[in-house]
Amino acid sequence: MAVLDLFKLDGKAALVTGAGSGIGRAYAQALSEAGAAVACADIDASSAEEVASSLNGKALAIETDVSDENQVHRMVEQTLSELGRLDIAFANAGIGGDIEQVFPEATLENWQKVIDINLTGVWLTAREAARAMIERGEGGKIIATASIYGFVGGFAPSPGAYNSAKGGVVNLVRDLAPTLAPHRINISGIAPGFFRTNIGGGLLMDLENEISRQFVEEIERRTPMGKIGDVEDLKGTAVYLASDAANYLTGHTVVVDGGWLAW
Ligand code: NAD
Repeated sequence: MAVLDLFKLDGKAALVTGAGSGIGRAYAQALSEAGAAVACADIDASSAEEVASSLNGKALAIETDVSDENQVHRMVEQTLSELGRLDIAFANAGIGGDIEQVFPEATLENWQKVIDINLTGVWLTAREAARAMIERGEGGKIIATASIYGFVGGFAPSPGAYNSAKGGVVNLVRDLAPTLAPHRINISGIAPGFFRTNIGGGLLMDLENEISRQFVEEIERRTPMGKIGDVEDLKGTAVYLASDAANYLTGHTVVVDGGWLAW
């Protein structure tokens, strides 16, 4: 097969959680542009609808809270019933949590919420997707959104939950790879650096706010590529990992961070 054909997703069905905004929206666009039908899942039904209706190919919107076991089960069932199959699942939905909280004053409630969505939500999405893929018997690709904070601690005061969840995601990807490989299911991660999205209440976007501006300046100073990421910069990696071009890649997390972790 010609190498560029390996990246085509024509005839495949994909699911993206947290598809209503930021990185998930970019993933949904990328997968659709590469030829896949895309189920756009989000806890915010209207943003999922908006993204699904903006895609040129076949798409649907599903309202789902990824931390709820029954809802995640129904999300995959609905994808199967409306798209007929599931080849690619992006477990992407996540939150920043209450970034005002600092350990040890941080609350158990904040810890639990971040772990429930950012780690348990990934596990649940991967589990339901894997069950569907195994039943169909044609393999598949599961891609989890980690973070550079899955590999290092933060440089700002923190409640400790977000980076712990992301470290969990990186190792979950490693841990499930041998279990899923006999079923021809590849599981991988994408670890973004800093990207301007709505996460953390849009902290990285609100440049009118002095704290945000200083934070962005500090990030850009420490990033070898000298700038915050644009979600467009993640689209190629998403399509690669979802495609036949990545058939021999499993258990690893690809870091897309402008070089942040390199030094
Ligand atoms: P975002 O806030 O723009 O998008 C997150 C989306 O997830 C939103 O549409 C939101 O409604 C949805 N969501 C939140 N809770 C949900 C739940 N319980 N169930 C289903 N959907 C839910 O933020 P983003 O930056 O695009 O975040 C996407 C992923 O990328 C997250 O896992 C985040 O941790 C990760 N990430 C982001 C950055 C960054 O700098 N933006 C860096 C590393 C990792």
